[in-house]
Amino acid sequence: MPLNKAALKDQYDVIVIGSGIGGLTTASLLAARGKDVLVLEQHYLPGGSAQTFPYKQYRFDVGPKLFFGMDASRGNMRYHQQVFDELDEYPDLSHYESYYSFKHPGGCLQVAGSVEEYIAQLVAAFPQEEDGIRRFYATLEDLHAMFVAFPNLPLDRPDAILKTVLGVSPDRLLKLGFWGYISFGSLFDDYIRSRELRAILNAEMVAFCYSDIDEVPAVLGALVLIERHKGGGTFTKGGSGALARLLVRGLEKHGGQIQYRASTRRILVERGRACGVELADGRTIAAEYVVSNAGVVNTFGRAGTNVEPLVERHWLRPQTRAKVDRVKLTDSFFTIFAGVDAQVFPPGTDAHMLYIDRYYQSVQDMRLICFCNSSFKDPTLAPPGKHALQIVYFDPECCKFDSWQRDEQYAQRKQATFERAMCMAEEVFPGITDSLDYVTCGTPLTYADYLAHWGGGWGVRMSIDQFAFHRFQHKTDVQNLFLVGADTHPGIGVVSVTMSGINCAYHIAQPRTSR
Ligand SMILES: Cc1cc2nc3c(=O)[nH]c(=O)nc-3n(C[C@H](O)[C@H](O)[C@H](O)COP(=O)(O)OP(=O)(O)OC[C@H]3O[C@@H](n4cnc5c(N)ncnc54)[C@H](O)[C@@H]3O)c2cc1C
Repeated sequence: MPLNKAALKDQYDVIVIGSGIGGLTTASLLAARGKDVLVLEQHYLPGGSAQTFPYKQYRFDVGPKLFFGMDASRGNMRYHQQVFDELDEYPDLSHYESYYSFKHPGGCLQVAGSVEEYIAQLVAAFPQEEDGIRRFYATLEDLHAMFVAFPNLPLDRPDAILKTVLGVSPDRLLKLGFWGYISFGSLFDDYIRSRELRAILNAEMVAFCYSDIDEVPAVLGALVLIERHKGGGTFTKGGSGALARLLVRGLEKHGGQIQYRASTRRILVERGRACGVELADGRTIAAEYVVSNAGVVNTFGRAGTNVEPLVERHWLRPQTRAKVDRVKLTDSFFTIFAGVDAQVFPPGTDAHMLYIDRYYQSVQDMRLICFCNSSFKDPTLAPPGKHALQIVYFDPECCKFDSWQRDEQYAQRKQATFERAMCMAEEVFPGITDSLDYVTCGTPLTYADYLAHWGGGWGVRMSIDQFAFHRFQHKTDVQNLFLVGADTHPGIGVVSVTMSGINCAYHIAQPRTSR
């Protein structure tokens, strides 16, 4: 268990609230650039949603297991690599061939190999759509290539925007802008008629972005569908929490500090400028800059909720208050963490499997189950003959945060939801329920409590109207207070919050090479 190694000082250059991947990326980069940085984390482990926690003889990943661009020598995305190079810290990676398999009522697709190989699978499954599938994928590849070639710079700095505009051909800029405003669903409909294939892509968008195919911008859908083939399956040994631990190492190596079980109660503001924080125990610490990785609702509050905002709302402009009050958040989910007998999984089973029992056209009624076995990729996460299984279960009956209360029905509802999820799991792996040991379940309230994140979901939804310039950026109405993480541009996912972390750090101190 990580320990607090040093006493807190009275003052730092930068305080980062929260040790999610976005917060840690900003903190470690700023430490490497010579700033005196303190990270305050309310939990006892780093990583937020991307932490790995020990339970009995197992280690479980709370959230992400499917990474993009973790290994730049295989993939196109280089954002993680940029951070590793600057910190001079590199992850120990394991590679696996199949990204995941997708079981649907008509068969099973294996997301593996090159784009061409996957197209061949799709064509075999949907032969009448061959021409459309090929043309659809050609457009996706084009969009993916454009995005990856695009510089990752903050959208709320005129100098960065100018640099971007000057560095990219007007044709590309217009194309990317256009596809940022067109839904992935309508791009699909231009080429393909199959409702079954549409439902499969819809479920994949939910699994990656928690948004409907008709909400997700086309450019984002293209990134998800292409990058997994370019980068291949790459996983940090030791669980997804190994990435957080790497960033903490980078932070500490450059003189930064992280304090666990240190909940921030308030961001201190004087004359419109952030000047420090107050901890839950009443201590105050001064800082020139404050960065919040706590999410927009927890940072700014939201009308109609019981959230105590970190910043007193009178510091916010009315339009910012209105924006947080009406921002659309993702729903939450139900998760099951359990040890499981390895023999439940037939030979050839992938580490990850997505399953739908019907071709759902909308997230509003979709039941989707994701089986995640990190111990397939790193056997040290489970004892011999066992696997550390996480089931992430999306179901409108249990994913609405507001519908859960810690009342006398809570335990009963949790048990009923567990049984409903396992009933669906049995359709894929018969006998799985009987082979579980040490089961622990997370409801939307569990996620909200452990991650100090109101809503218990993935944050601001990745919809066209909340994308790019419409999303929250880093600068806030309070001078020297910045936001970082999944609620900011570009959005949800480990690689996205890494991009956000790089851009947030850019506001405070730039790397020598980009001065
Ligand atoms: C079940 C699940 C599966 C996922 N699967 C994937 C996947 O396969 N691939 C992928 O790329 N992404 C996945 N994601 C999404 C990804 O994990 C997140 O988008 C990303 O990790 C969020 O990072 P963040 O920087 O926004 O911080 P968060 O993870 O939200 O962390 C914020 C941190 O701030 C701390 N904090 C909050 N308030 C305070 C306070 N007042 N004082 C001190 N500390 C505070 C919290 O404790 C937390 O540690 C998944 C997420 C979940 C939950």
